Amino acid sequence: MALIVQKFGGSSVGDANKIKHVAKRVIETQKAGNQVVVVVSAMGDTTDELIDLAQSVAEDPYESPREMDMLLTSGERISMALLAIAINAAGAQSRSFTGSQAGIMTSAKHGDARISEVTPFRIQEALDAGDIAIVAGFQGFNKDSKDITTLGRGGSDTTAVALAAALKADVCEIYSDVDGVYTADPRVIPAARKLDSIDIESMLELAGAGAKILHIRAVEYARRHNVDLRVRSTFSTDPGTIVYSSKAGENMEEPIVSGIATDKGQAKITVIGIPDVPGKAAEVFNTVASAGANIDMIVQNTPTGSDVTDRVSDISFTLPLGDLGRVAGALDAAKANLGFRDLEQDANIGKLSVVGAGMRTHSGVSATLFSALATAGINIEMISTSEIRISVITSADQLDAAARAVHTAFELDSDVEAVVYAGTGR
Ligand code: ADP
Ligand code: ASP
Ligand code: MG
Repeated sequence: MALIVQKFGGSSVGDANKIKHVAKRVIETQKAGNQVVVVVSAMGDTTDELIDLAQSVAEDPYESPREMDMLLTSGERISMALLAIAINAAGAQSRSFTGSQAGIMTSAKHGDARISEVTPFRIQEALDAGDIAIVAGFQGFNKDSKDITTLGRGGSDTTAVALAAALKADVCEIYSDVDGVYTADPRVIPAARKLDSIDIESMLELAGAGAKILHIRAVEYARRHNVDLRVRSTFSTDPGTIVYSSKAGENMEEPIVSGIATDKGQAKITVIGIPDVPGKAAEVFNTVASAGANIDMIVQNTPTGSDVTDRVSDISFTLPLGDLGRVAGALDAAKANLGFRDLEQDANIGKLSVVGAGMRTHSGVSATLFSALATAGINIEMISTSEIRISVITSADQLDAAARAVHTAFELDSDVEAVVYAGTGR
């Protein structure tokens, strides 16, 4: 008897009919002779709606991080109980569990907790009793503070992978509103092609670059614990995409470019005219770090000025859009100490990333990328690279056109249009 973990995202449990549909799929999996653990997200856009609601009672609800986690975890509790009710009504037996009941132990950081330990005794008990176990995704429990935590937006994927690893599941399936992992976000590029398989390193880079089909922490967890994932649709029978972490994927061919990702959730700050002396970059980024932001790309231009005493340079960096105001405020407050002339903020940027494990051994990828962008008349503001990724910053308005041009240039276009079955893409 195999043990299967199935995770259903928000769009898969978006309304009563969809929950009944999921119940049917889950029961079929059990009837085929498997033990089944189901992880669910909140219904549809519930999490966003709860955040909107919190913002209507306080200007910055995140000043109460504990209460935000109490609020947001309620979304997953609704779907877990509704799914259990639907499964029981359809004649099978199921029980739902919160993250804490399922043994998902985390660090104490509200809104972005890390899983530290998984002790799924109650899940195992339910399975031994022949029940389908349903677990609320995205949430855990900190033993020291004794408080409920959340794992960061999109974190239900991580719950599923962590349970699959702890229970030594045979299969971990991530069900969403598209047929698998595509060469690009099908909502941005309808000509995106579904991949039959992808290596974990490329998936990690794609997730890190903004492809939200999988939560980056879930991909990291899968890599660390050698869990293979199958990403597939709730609304079709397509076998989906296998994301290989284990040795099973070792002999897979590594395409030069597996896919591209786009991210409109970034912003850029340029610190203009900062003295070109040792220690200034450290001061700038210490100020940024104490404002609590994670920065991504950094560019410093060649210093200008007539001699060593008045040489100045500009430093630009990107950061999450939501951190822009706070970080700009912190830098402005430190302006006299840091000694820069001006600060520029740009919320209108987009990041385009090209990812492929074959880049390690093939040259010419950047030439193709830059030529495609030049032909499409798109200006590049910043560039960064890793061993298997090249990212560029463009203006936000040009990002989708840039992505389409690059997708075509790398010959990734499919003849058939990708199907997005549900969801608002919010
Ligand atoms: P869920 O609610 O199931 O967790 P998400 O909205 O988090 O679903 O993720 C699914 C969405 O991810 C898709 O609808 C698609 O728009 C987006 N996406 C971004 N990049 C990709 C990609 N490379 N392949 C497939 N989907 C992608
Ligand atoms: N409901 C949470 C979110 O919207 C977690 C998830 O969907 O994975 O971010
Ligand atoms: Mg998701």
